[in-house]
Amino acid sequence: MKSNQTILITGGAGFIGSHVVRLFVTKYPDYQIVNLDKLTYAGNLENLSDIESLPNYTFEHGDITDADYINNLFEKYNFDGVVHLAAESHVDRSITDPMAFVMTNVIGTVNLLNAAKTAWKNNMEEHRFYHVSTDEVYGELHNPDEFFLETTSYDPRSPYSASKASSDHFVRAYNNTYKLPVVISNCSNNYGPNHFPEKLIPLMINNIMHNRPLPVYGKGENVRDWLFVKDHARAIDVIYHNGVNGETYNIGGFNEWKNIDLVHLLCKIMDEKLGRPADTSVQLITYVTDRAGHDLRYAIDATKLMNELGWEPSLQFEEGLTQTVEWYLTNKEWLQNVTSGDYLKYYEKMYK
Ligand code: NAD
Repeated sequence: MKSNQTILITGGAGFIGSHVVRLFVTKYPDYQIVNLDKLTYAGNLENLSDIESLPNYTFEHGDITDADYINNLFEKYNFDGVVHLAAESHVDRSITDPMAFVMTNVIGTVNLLNAAKTAWKNNMEEHRFYHVSTDEVYGELHNPDEFFLETTSYDPRSPYSASKASSDHFVRAYNNTYKLPVVISNCSNNYGPNHFPEKLIPLMINNIMHNRPLPVYGKGENVRDWLFVKDHARAIDVIYHNGVNGETYNIGGFNEWKNIDLVHLLCKIMDEKLGRPADTSVQLITYVTDRAGHDLRYAIDATKLMNELGWEPSLQFEEGLTQTVEWYLTNKEWLQNVTSGDYLKYYEKMYK
């Protein structure tokens, strides 16, 4: 791979994208990193304020559903590679507005694939299209001994996971049909700084800070596998540079938690950090009507990535969660900014 690449990162103002942009911009000063983001409610340039003035970083405000815009962007920058993270990412929103997920996650991805296919047609093998996806495409698990492997059949069960599964299929189809050099990764649930507070962990942290009820879906029995976002960004770096063309890599922390146990652990950490007596925050737990079609358990087997590319998670969960809590407590202004406006209206509709 070239040492002076120009890379398009889509969705770089979002939660995971901002960590990927920061890692690439700081680790590879000879690369030019172009962050393309529509700045939806989930995109926040504040996430990148520490690196925005670096000479190898450029922001482009645009929409991946606009094919002409995307084609022009490829002409303007002559990208060597793409790391595609832009998406509508929240399952609950996909239940109320599936079409937004079809537009961005499916049509937007195909627009990027088409632009790359055209721009790279004379020297495909010198390029790389990296599609960032989710473990939710595999469906749900019931048997505690089972894990999602790269070979597990797709069985998406929410509009979000259906749209991501569809985009994964398009990416593989472009590899098979047009020989577009692609890699895909499917990652478990991420947590860490810059996470928009509609998702479980930052929602709970925010509510504990403000003494608000902690809404837990159903009986809190659903199991998710959690990975610190910076470990996901490190995995994306490794796979972008060393992954084998056409391959898929599962990314996960072998770190399964029932939602209710996770909320209890968060309450304990928050009580300690806020100097409240033990068991103060757990009193706020409120069970609410379960999410429609709520998948019971996701669990990723990341052995292939660990064995073939040498990646492994760097943090134990309690340590990562403590770092996350500390970040939210020292960045109250960030939280305040994102919890005003559109987010508040959405929050009121879902939980009030
Ligand atoms: P996010 O919602 O925090 O960020 C998504 C970003 O995409 C935002 O900055 C948003 O403005 C941008 N965006 C949305 N629509 C766009 C469009 N039409 N054009 C351009 N930009 C647009 O999401 P995230 O949690 O950071 O997830 C990033 C990617 O990782 C997604 O593809 C998601 O499916 C995948 N993923 C997420 C998780 C997780 O736990 N969050 C786990 C596995 C995979």
